[in-house]
Amino acid sequence: MKLDKLTISQVHKGLQKKEFSALELTNVYLEKIRKQDKKIFAYLTITKKLALKKAKEIDDLISKKEKLPLLAGIPAAIKDNILIEDIRCTAGSKILENYIAPYDAGVIQKLKDLGIVFLGKTNMDEFAMGSSCENSGFFPTKNPCDLRRVPGGSSGGSAAAVAADMCVFALGSDTGGSIRLPASFCGVVGLKPTYGAVSRCGLIAMASSLDQIGPLTKTVEDAKIVFEAIKGKDPLDSTSVESKVQSSKFKVQNLRIGIPKEYFVKGMDKEVEKIIKQAIKKYEKLGAKIEEISLPHTEYALAAYYIIMPAEASSNLARYDKVRYGEDRQEFGKEVRRRIMLGTYTLSAGYYEAYYLRAQKVRTLIKQDFNKAFQKVDVILTPTSPTPAFKLGEKITDPLTMYLSDVFTISVNLAGLPALSLPCGRVKGLPVGLQLIGNFFEENKILELAQLFEKI
Ligand code: GLN
Repeated sequence: MKLDKLTISQVHKGLQKKEFSALELTNVYLEKIRKQDKKIFAYLTITKKLALKKAKEIDDLISKKEKLPLLAGIPAAIKDNILIEDIRCTAGSKILENYIAPYDAGVIQKLKDLGIVFLGKTNMDEFAMGSSCENSGFFPTKNPCDLRRVPGGSSGGSAAAVAADMCVFALGSDTGGSIRLPASFCGVVGLKPTYGAVSRCGLIAMASSLDQIGPLTKTVEDAKIVFEAIKGKDPLDSTSVESKVQSSKFKVQNLRIGIPKEYFVKGMDKEVEKIIKQAIKKYEKLGAKIEEISLPHTEYALAAYYIIMPAEASSNLARYDKVRYGEDRQEFGKEVRRRIMLGTYTLSAGYYEAYYLRAQKVRTLIKQDFNKAFQKVDVILTPTSPTPAFKLGEKITDPLTMYLSDVFTISVNLAGLPALSLPCGRVKGLPVGLQLIGNFFEENKILELAQLFEKI
C-alpha cells in the first residue's frame, strides 16, 4: 500500500489490518518532512523522539489485539503556539526561541490520550499576527501549490504541512482568519470552531476573546473527526463549554443558504468570484434555497478588529518582559511592536472611550447582524478570501493591504461563530476557498454541508 495522502480513516483501517505499522507510517512521514521541508519550511521543530515512542506504543497495542481508538497512530503537526510538554514552543518568535513548554495544552492532552503521533511544531507569524506567515521570527513558509507564494497566515506552517502531505492533519489557531485563510490558500479544509467549543488552555494567547484552536485537514470528514476529539469543557479554561453540537441530519431541500451582499464587493478577484458563484449554483442544484441577505456592519469589522485585537494582545504580551518570560537578547518583531503600540494607545486614558469602547459597540452590532441573519437562513456562504495566495514579499511592506486579506473572515471571530473553509476550485492553478458560516455550536451543520459539496 502506498502511504500517500492518507486520511484518518484510511490510516486507521491500514493499522488495524496490519497493512503497515504505526512505526513504519511515522518513519514514512519523517522521511517526507526530511526531503520536502527543505523547500517548504513548514516545521520549526521536529519531535522525532516523541513520535517514534508513541508509534511503538501504538504498535504494542495492536500486537496485543487491543481495540484501537480512531486517532491512534495518526501522525499530526501542531502550530507552534500550542504547548506540548517538554517540547520547545516559540509562537514563531525569537523571544521564545528556547522556551520549553512546562505542560500540555488541553487539546494536546486529549489527543495524547487518543494516541496521536506528534511529528512536530509548525511555523507561524510571530504570536499569530499576520496573514502570510512572513512575520515568523525564523523564516517564511512557502505555499506547496506554488513555492513563490505565501501559504497564508498565521497558521501557514500547519496548512502547508497538510497540503504537502507532511502530516495527516494539523492543528492551527484562528483569531481573525488564521485557520481559514491558509486553508484557502493551500487548498485544504480548515475549521474555526464556535468561541468556547474548544479549550484555549495552553494556547499562547494573542487576543483572548477571539482566539480558537481548530483542525486543518485534507477532507471534511477528517475535520469532523478531529473537532469531535478536541472539543468540550476544560476546567482549566473557564470560557470553554461542553459543546452542544448535535448531529444535524438535515435535508438539503429544507436548507436556506444566505449570501451576504456585502461580501461581493469591488476589488475582489473576478475569477474567485466566478468560482464562488459556481459553488452557490451547485448548492442550488442540490435543492437548497439561496437567499440574498445583508450584514450591514461588515464594512466596520476590520477597523473594530484592529482596535480590539491589539488592545487584548498588548495586555497579553506584557508578560514577555524578560523577567517572567523571554530571551534576554531578543526583541519582538516589527508587526508585534506595532500592535502593542496600537493596543496601549487605544486603551490609554482619553482614547479608551473614543476607540476601544466604540469598537466594542461595533462588535455588538456585528453580532446582531448575524443574529438577525440566522433568523432567516441556516447557513451563510461567502468567499474565504478576496484573492488566491499572493506572492512572497508582495504585501509585507504594506500592513494595511495585508490586513485586508482577512476582510471576509474577521467578522466571524468578532461574533464568536463557527466557520469552515473548503477548497472549491482553482484560479491559474491556485486553490480558492469557500467559507461556510454557521450559527453558534452548529459545526456539524456546516461540516455536513461541506461534505455534500465534496461529494459532487
Ligand atoms: N491576520 C489576522 C491578524 O493578523 C488574523 C490572525 C489570526 O487569526 N491569528 O491579526
